[in-house]
Amino acid sequence: MDKKPRRHPELDSGSSIDSRFRGNDSKEGMTKPTVLLDVDNTIFDREAVRKIEGKLIDANYGNGAGRRFRQIIEEVRKDVGWGDIKEASIRFARERGSSDYASALAVFLELPFSQYWRPHAKELVEYLAANFNLIIFSDGDDTFQKEKIEKLGLYKKAREVIISRSKIELFFGFSKKYHGKLIIIDDRPKVIEEAKRLLGNVITIWIKHGRHAQGYERVNADLETTDLKEVVQYLKSNHSKDY
Ligand SMILES: [Mg+2]
Repeated sequence: MDKKPRRHPELDSGSSIDSRFRGNDSKEGMTKPTVLLDVDNTIFDREAVRKIEGKLIDANYGNGAGRRFRQIIEEVRKDVGWGDIKEASIRFARERGSSDYASALAVFLELPFSQYWRPHAKELVEYLAANFNLIIFSDGDDTFQKEKIEKLGLYKKAREVIISRSKIELFFGFSKKYHGKLIIIDDRPKVIEEAKRLLGNVITIWIKHGRHAQGYERVNADLETTDLKEVVQYLKSNHSKDY
């Protein structure tokens, strides 16, 4: 695809969907399974990036600035419901007596995202794009996620990119929208558990990586692993010929 897919709001006001989705592909009259693939801490090492963000803010604004920025993000999360990085940058700049929030925001938007793929994540994406209806299903700050997803080249690989502020709310529309089997791959125990509860006949794959997975041993997913190579093996053995 050489141009960016058009953007339109759908289902809830807090989500954006970049779509070239026109119904599931079919092969010999049957419907390919749809894979909803999360980004942060599933295929992308968000924890590793979190560590360098603070250091970069410190380098630009002095020791302790990174920690303060992180506190401001948490304050913003309480006020608006998600970690809005632009709003946090505005507050951070204001606190320092400046109106130049763009420089702080740029620290986040210009991170070297492509250095932080999780091991075997690229192979997983290639495999999914070739064999399934691949939907990138991400959550968090819209601007930051878009930049990251673009720089990881995922708009080109996926049939659709959804950035949601409430993944679980979107589940209600999915069984109508995607025909055939649904497979969800995510690191958040809550997302995995609610997918099973709300979507019923869904295959869940829990990626045990990062801060959300910590403290959980099992979440009753169909596959639970840290290893993305294992995800490919599992799908090859169990679900690639389901259409
Ligand atoms: Mg995640």
